[in-house]
Amino acid sequence: MADLLVRLLARLYPSIIIREERTGGGDEIKALARRINPYIDLSGQATIEAVIGAARPRWKSTRTVFAGCKGWTAKLSTNDPQGCGTSKNPFGAGLAACLAAADIFRHVFLPRTEPVGEFKIGVPHAREWANDNGDVEGYVGSLVLAGAGAIGNAAAWALSRTGVEGSIEIVDHESVDLGNLQRYVLAERDDEKRPKAPFVAGGFNGKLSASPHACTLAEFLEEKRHRVENLLLALDSAKDRCAAQASLPRRIANAWTQPGDLGVSSHDFLEGACVNCLYLPDGEQKNEDQIIAESFGVPDRLMEVRTLLYNRGGAPRDLLAAIAKARDLPFTKLLPFEGRPLRVLYTEGFCGGAVIPLDEPGTPANDVHVPLAHQSAMAGVLLAAVGVRMGMTGFADSVITQYDVLKPQKRFLVYPAAKHSRERCICQDADYREVYRRKYR
Ligand SMILES: [Zn+2]
Repeated sequence: MADLLVRLLARLYPSIIIREERTGGGDEIKALARRINPYIDLSGQATIEAVIGAARPRWKSTRTVFAGCKGWTAKLSTNDPQGCGTSKNPFGAGLAACLAAADIFRHVFLPRTEPVGEFKIGVPHAREWANDNGDVEGYVGSLVLAGAGAIGNAAAWALSRTGVEGSIEIVDHESVDLGNLQRYVLAERDDEKRPKAPFVAGGFNGKLSASPHACTLAEFLEEKRHRVENLLLALDSAKDRCAAQASLPRRIANAWTQPGDLGVSSHDFLEGACVNCLYLPDGEQKNEDQIIAESFGVPDRLMEVRTLLYNRGGAPRDLLAAIAKARDLPFTKLLPFEGRPLRVLYTEGFCGGAVIPLDEPGTPANDVHVPLAHQSAMAGVLLAAVGVRMGMTGFADSVITQYDVLKPQKRFLVYPAAKHSRERCICQDADYREVYRRKYR
């Protein structure tokens, strides 16, 4: 819990104080914080505090959140210390770290949110397949983690700390960049430019053997001849999720973050909702070029934006000037993007925060929403739990789990997901269903 909590906090807060009373390990945790942010200030007095474990600290700060865990369950309180169990289960501890980070975040940035009080929250459905002692052990067969981004990092953090046996293949074609460090829990400052798949696979050294695939998911699925037993989706686009579902893996778990909440779903292709059911548009959707032109503030130059995106053309100076004018930005902020592909201006400048500060509410539109570190981490921890469940039981039903980190929510919202009502999803198509049946007869 201390490990994940520091991995979350050291990326956001410029100054954190780490104290340990009884258990030791404080120096290790301090070294980790410095590797994440070499400029972090680890000295001084704490004003807001997270306390892990049963002991009440001797020092006093203005506001304290107490975090504990037992097996699959996280415990949080703003009143009294919470103990930690002795199992080797990373899920309750991981959840507790995310919840403590969320509580601190709300206290600092959303001070009007009500305090958490005291509550316990467990991984949904865990009791059905867990060992009595709370340890996570057993054979999970083969897992594929698609995406080694923010959610994938946290999923790997949890999976690599279980005692399960089997294999995991990690698929991602990108490399870690500076914009990722704000929310990739495994990434440290020196990991910039490392390819994501081998970087994440390097964290596994237990019984779950990991192998990296630095290629696109489409290339990986083709190489596997579209035969995948348990696919864990940690992707950030609906398009990629739908493509993954269309390749008909046997079982899918899917995780996401969106403005307002995070969620994880598992899917039974024949009986319940498939992944595509969740992402079928209800009406006409905007094209990508339209979304980008609008977030640049130049919808009148749609055709030019479209052509530049299609040709991977460089951003011309007059277009940058128009964007600066429309969005009321200093032109000098946009100039570094001159001649670089227009998409780079969108992903780095607008989504990554280089041009548009991430604290401007409402603009750009939700499509360029950047999740909080603890939000992605919680989605990843839950995704790992669903993946272990699928691998261990050979069973996946269509169930959705949701949580909102901006509120002191004391329960997960868990509900079954039915197929799309309009009967136009691939899981309602006779040909797809027949191919799926033959594949896994
Ligand atoms: Zn469907």
